[in-house]
Amino acid sequence: MSLPTVTRRDFLKVGAAGASALAAAGLGFDVALAESTKVKQQLRIAGAKELHSVCPYCAVGCSLVAYTRQKSDGSVQLLQIEGDPDSPVNEGRLCPKGATAMQLAVSPRRVESPQYRAPGATGWKSVSWDFVLDKIAQNVKSSRDATFVTTDGNGNTVNRTEGIAFAGGAAFSSEEGYFATKLMRSLGLVHLEQQARV
Ligand code: SF4
Repeated sequence: MSLPTVTRRDFLKVGAAGASALAAAGLGFDVALAESTKVKQQLRIAGAKELHSVCPYCAVGCSLVAYTRQKSDGSVQLLQIEGDPDSPVNEGRLCPKGATAMQLAVSPRRVESPQYRAPGATGWKSVSWDFVLDKIAQNVKSSRDATFVTTDGNGNTVNRTEGIAFAGGAAFSSEEGYFATKLMRSLGLVHLEQQARV
């Protein structure tokens, strides 16, 4: 089968048709804009209260916008959390972890109390914060007592314990990191780490 011959005149006609289509698209752009504005007005966050916060997951400190609305019974419903486009840190973006921040508030799978698995136990059980804090204090005390050394092999005074390690939270501020370091050093800890995800 032979292909039709395209003359220079035919080519110019096609060009003219293309230009007309572009002009129509230009007109259509306004229509699309009007449509998108309409859609925006129908968004579930339309008229919602806008609150600013910071992602709790890591030290990058990306800014968040949380949209909330008060329900007829007076309770506040969280509608949406997204990156804050005005933030110089993340300019509206969030990493995959931060993008799930809303799940911290609404996920039915969220663990809402400390979990404890006793020595030898096969499962975890929910316990109170008082129980956990007492347990941590007891374990720190007993580990420190059992492993504390005052002098090293050369007779140098060291007053340290290598039986406990400390890992700082990823969302620590500088002040929290400073405080944690001071506290842990005062107990004689040598092994300190800061999980900053960067
Ligand atoms: S990088 Fe991710 S986890 Fe860290 S603050 Fe930003 S969104 Fe949160």
